[in-house]
Amino acid sequence: RLPVLVCGVVLQHHPFQGIAFILDNSARKELEQRKDSFISMASHELRNPLASLKMQTQLVRKRLEKQTHHEAAALLSRVEGPVKQLERLIGELLDVSKIQAGRLEYLQETVDLDALLHEVADTMQQLSPTHTIVVRGAVPCSLVGDKDRLWQAFTNLLSNAIKYSPDAETVEMDLSASAEIVMIRVRDHGLGIPREQCDKIFDRFYRVSGPRQRAIPGLGMGLYIVAEIVKAHGGTIMVDSAVGKGSTFTVTLPTRTSLSSPWIDREKQR
Ligand code: ADP
Repeated sequence: RLPVLVCGVVLQHHPFQGIAFILDNSARKELEQRKDSFISMASHELRNPLASLKMQTQLVRKRLEKQTHHEAAALLSRVEGPVKQLERLIGELLDVSKIQAGRLEYLQETVDLDALLHEVADTMQQLSPTHTIVVRGAVPCSLVGDKDRLWQAFTNLLSNAIKYSPDAETVEMDLSASAEIVMIRVRDHGLGIPREQCDKIFDRFYRVSGPRQRAIPGLGMGLYIVAEIVKAHGGTIMVDSAVGKGSTFTVTLPTRTSLSSPWIDREKQR
């Protein structure tokens, strides 16, 4: 909408510049589309050999374990970490291109959010033994949503909290609920985010500038996907942060979700 308005203004005063602007704009759009479809195709192409690599490695490792070749099995299990990392990266690339194309679908099922958050915290704790993850406010609460996507969203928030707290050891997750709304807070005491960049971190491919943030690997897709998942569940996400002190991400989700994206009823799917 904005470019059209800008075009109108430009055309009035500088006709040729205006035409150039329109052409420039449509060429840019086409380039964007081509880039999105390239990402989608490349991700699919990468995913297949990776899935096969993962399966073969697991198979060989299990056989070696059975034959008590523990040393060889341990060596092979080291391959599984980077393979999982690549799998997650490719999955995120695919998610981003699906969001862009409006094709990200959600399953509709009953989710025990309290249990899900504890599972996410336990899994992350095993993967990050140097940090302490504290979960507070165990309140039984369930909502209608997509369990795997909610898992993905909270895993992402928690793994960011850990990733961007290289010196601080504690990461907290608070859960509180009323009849209508569940509120989840993920808090860290790490690097923090400059105030003027706080609203940009949910944009696609955005990364906070600064040497300490940039030294930590990432592509700026996680929060874009998290925000999209939360939005699809009818919820909101906010960040409160101070540089050098840490960040708190607050997610609210309605318990009776007003579904806003393509939803698939899991019961009907079975
Ligand atoms: P990335 O893969 O780069 O971590 P995200 O989309 O998850 O991508 O995050 C976008 C950017 O927001 C990150 O690059 C980082 O600069 C900043 N960020 C996200 N979470 C935190 C956090 N807990 N503490 C500090 N900075 C964060």
